[in-house]
Amino acid sequence: MTSASAAEAGESAPAPGEPYTEELAGGVHAYIQPDGGWCLSNAGWISDGGETLLVDTAATERRTRALRTALVASGAPLPATVVNTHHHGDHTYGNALFTPGATVVGHETCRRETLAAGHQLHEIWPGVDFGDIRITAPTLTYRDELTLHVGRTEVRLLHPGVAHTAGDTVVWLPEQSVVFTGDIVFHRGTPFVPMGSLSGSLHALDRLRALGAHTVVPGHGPLAGPEVYDTVERCLRYVDEVARAAHGRGLTPLEAAREAGPGEFAELAESERLVANVHRAYAELEGRPPGDPLDILSVWADMEQLNGGRPVACHA
Ligand SMILES: [Zn+2]
Repeated sequence: MTSASAAEAGESAPAPGEPYTEELAGGVHAYIQPDGGWCLSNAGWISDGGETLLVDTAATERRTRALRTALVASGAPLPATVVNTHHHGDHTYGNALFTPGATVVGHETCRRETLAAGHQLHEIWPGVDFGDIRITAPTLTYRDELTLHVGRTEVRLLHPGVAHTAGDTVVWLPEQSVVFTGDIVFHRGTPFVPMGSLSGSLHALDRLRALGAHTVVPGHGPLAGPEVYDTVERCLRYVDEVARAAHGRGLTPLEAAREAGPGEFAELAESERLVANVHRAYAELEGRPPGDPLDILSVWADMEQLNGGRPVACHA
């Protein structure tokens, strides 16, 4: 662990909430934002000392500046490439702090979704100070796969189909056996698929398993090994069971989620996401295509209801 602040404080672990950097292999860094809750996403970078590729940015200007400071502190030059794992603002809002020096790369649907979503986090969390956020979509897009090279390191971008969103990218470093999953994997948090696909997320997990990565950098939460896929899969299969049983009985997603509760997944953070995931499961049971847009503000309202009427808080 190479948290600068923890090292300065003489501590062995970072303080809760303090982002930290971990070197996973020569020139490959993960940037983890505890506790991985709403808006606290992970990033990472690959550098050979001469050039740098950054995976994702952060939700606020302030957090992205901290990410940029950590990147520079590692000895990496500012990135010539920023890869977005998907369009959500906690992964893309900071893009403009690296352009025009960097080219932003993403799946072609990620570009479309970034532009369509605009300042969506501002709508969901009007009280949060995001700073100066200029929506900056990928200008270099791909459809199925794209391989980039950073010095001698091969960086494979893979689109696993519609999963967390319709425009997901998995960043796979075969030589280092490291994968950046984006939000297909939440570690210690509840999966979240209302803007993607439940069945597609299960396919994406199979695709991730087949890569055989030893080190998994989840979209949120601490680093993991491939065993993390099993928890995500079991949780999604639980959503599927709950939704199938409740849909047949004519329950609303909120009624279904209230009746079922989080089950064995109560220890995962953000358990209110269960109802959002049931909304997506219902859409699939009704034959709607993967990623077909839901009314996301009403999904949010249901999460607040499931949360006992408390707002779903952005931690950025
Ligand atoms: Zn996301």
